[in-house]
Amino acid sequence: MSVANRILEFEALRRAILTCERCPGLVASRSRSVPGSGTIPARVAFVGLAPGRLGGDRSGVPFTGDRSGNLLRKMIHDNGLDRVFITNLVRCNPRDERGRNRDPSAAEVANCKCFLHAELNQSSAALVVCLGRVAWHELAGRDQPFDPTHARPVSRGGRLIYPMFHPAYVNRGAYSPNKYAKDFVRLRLLVERMAL
Ligand code: URA
Repeated sequence: MSVANRILEFEALRRAILTCERCPGLVASRSRSVPGSGTIPARVAFVGLAPGRLGGDRSGVPFTGDRSGNLLRKMIHDNGLDRVFITNLVRCNPRDERGRNRDPSAAEVANCKCFLHAELNQSSAALVVCLGRVAWHELAGRDQPFDPTHARPVSRGGRLIYPMFHPAYVNRGAYSPNKYAKDFVRLRLLVERMAL
C-alpha cells in the first residue's frame, strides 16, 4: 500500500474511534474517546486496558498525564525502545458510580476490540506487549495463563503476544519497581534478538 493510502486508512480509523458511540454508558461518562498513538509502522505495540480518568481521558493520548503513563513511558525511554505504538483494549474511560476507574465490562470490550485489531494491523508490530491480564486474555486467549514473571510469548496471527504487568500494578505496590525495570530489560533483549 502506498504511504498516502496508509495515512488515509489511519486517519479513517482514528475518526471512527473518535466518533464511536457503541457503548451509551461510556459515551455519557467519557471526556473523549482515545485512539492509539505512536509510530507506524512500529516495532512494538503496547496494549493497556482503557484510558485513565486522569490521563488519556483528559489528554486524548493513551498513557499520558497519569502515573501509569509516566512509568510506562519512562521504561520505554530508558530501554531505548523506539518505533513503538501505544494503545488500549477499550477507548473510553470506564468509571464506577463513584467516578473511579473500573475495569471495562465484557460487552464494552466486545464492542471495542475491532478497533484494536485494526490498529495492530496498521501498526505492523511483530511484537505486541499486553499490559495486564485483561489485554493478555483478549489477545493471547482466555486459556493462556497470565504469567509476566516467566514472560513466555505466544504466537497469534503472525505476531508475538507478550505478557507484562500493567504499570498501575507496580504503582500501587503490588510488584517491585526493580523487578519491573528488569522485565523491561528482558523485553529490550527480545526486541534486539528479533532484530525488529
Ligand atoms: N492509561 C491508559 O491509557 N491505559 C491504561 O490501561 C491505564 C492508563
